[in-house]
Amino acid sequence: MANCQNILVIGELTEGSLSSTTKELLTVGRNLADSLQEDLNVVLLGENLSQYTSDLLFFGTDTIYLAQHSLLEDYQDDLYVEAITQLAASTNPRSILLGKTLTGKELGPRLAFKLGTSLLQDCIHLAIDTNKNLVGKRPIYGGNALAEITHIGTPQLAIVRPKTIEVSVQEQKGKGNINEYVPELSDSMIQARTIEKVDEPVSGVRLEDARIVVSGGRGLGGPEPFRDLEDLASLLGGATGASRAACDAGWIPSSYQVGLTGKTITPDLYITVGISGASQHMAGCSGAKIIVSINKDSEANIFKDSAFGVVGDWKEVLPGFIDQIKSMTNAS
Ligand SMILES: Cc1cc2nc3c(=O)[nH]c(=O)nc-3n(C[C@H](O)[C@H](O)[C@H](O)COP(=O)(O)OP(=O)(O)OC[C@H]3O[C@@H](n4cnc5c(N)ncnc54)[C@H](O)[C@@H]3O)c2cc1C
Repeated sequence: MANCQNILVIGELTEGSLSSTTKELLTVGRNLADSLQEDLNVVLLGENLSQYTSDLLFFGTDTIYLAQHSLLEDYQDDLYVEAITQLAASTNPRSILLGKTLTGKELGPRLAFKLGTSLLQDCIHLAIDTNKNLVGKRPIYGGNALAEITHIGTPQLAIVRPKTIEVSVQEQKGKGNINEYVPELSDSMIQARTIEKVDEPVSGVRLEDARIVVSGGRGLGGPEPFRDLEDLASLLGGATGASRAACDAGWIPSSYQVGLTGKTITPDLYITVGISGASQHMAGCSGAKIIVSINKDSEANIFKDSAFGVVGDWKEVLPGFIDQIKSMTNAS
């Protein structure tokens, strides 16, 4: 990897601004680049991208690549892989970092295959070893152990789990070059086409961003009690979540799932109702500052991680709890 001189972050936009995951990747990318004394670069793909450069400069980027092409307006695997491969061929990145987002999860393995390298999946920590190789830590066995894996390929790709890196701003640290380029793409490169896109309506705060989350599990016994949890969450200005058991039962959509195979959340307050606290669930909420649990089983695993717990039937506990919150917030 003699000629490698940079870390490349694959940036993403959500709802017209830089995604929080991209800011996390830039934070970790800056640290890696500093320890290598190399550049931190970022690429955005799409159209009309120059409006995002000032945000990207905030994170100490050395070169911002704006890959602009009408075919990149919407995410499409084949074209995104092709555009990044072309960029990698001319800029020779040591590492390429992606977020564990819908896009990152689709793009990462395809990109690794196309570049003839391997991929560190689901990393919660990244560092550089003495041989300048990328070392990722990732949870294994349902979050019960951590594996440390050294990448020895070229380039070194890693997917980073959202909300595991605290964002820090590095204003004016990078060189701040802006490089607009048009990748060579054609319609004939597309092997899979999107027939229809359906946006899931989101009311209130997003689960991943909520400071307060109220989640329900199999102990709720059906879909109806989730209405109570939604009321409680909205009273508290938070979001509703669920265990996989509740999602698998069809009581609530799988986009609400917290855990290893669901969303990672880092709220200040996490209230769980009828959730046992399986390791796969806890893998998604271990970053919560305070966990408060209602469970009728005093031996439930969730109590081990809870700052406060109520041993009891949620049907008896929850109404009084909601009334109390209402009286404290003057809600009717
Ligand atoms: C590869 C893999 C990935 C997984 N990924 C995830 C994931 O991302 N997220 C996830 O959540 N799970 C995940 N799971 C599943 C996980 O192992 C558990 O099965 C799941 O979390 C259990 O959900 P639960 O706590 O709602 O249900 P249960 O484990 O059945 O617990 C229900 C709890 O409700 C309590 N309860 C029952 N009735 C009442 C009542 N009336 N009042 C109060 N408490 C009551 C019970 O005491 C019990 O503790 C995964 C599993 C595997 C193998």
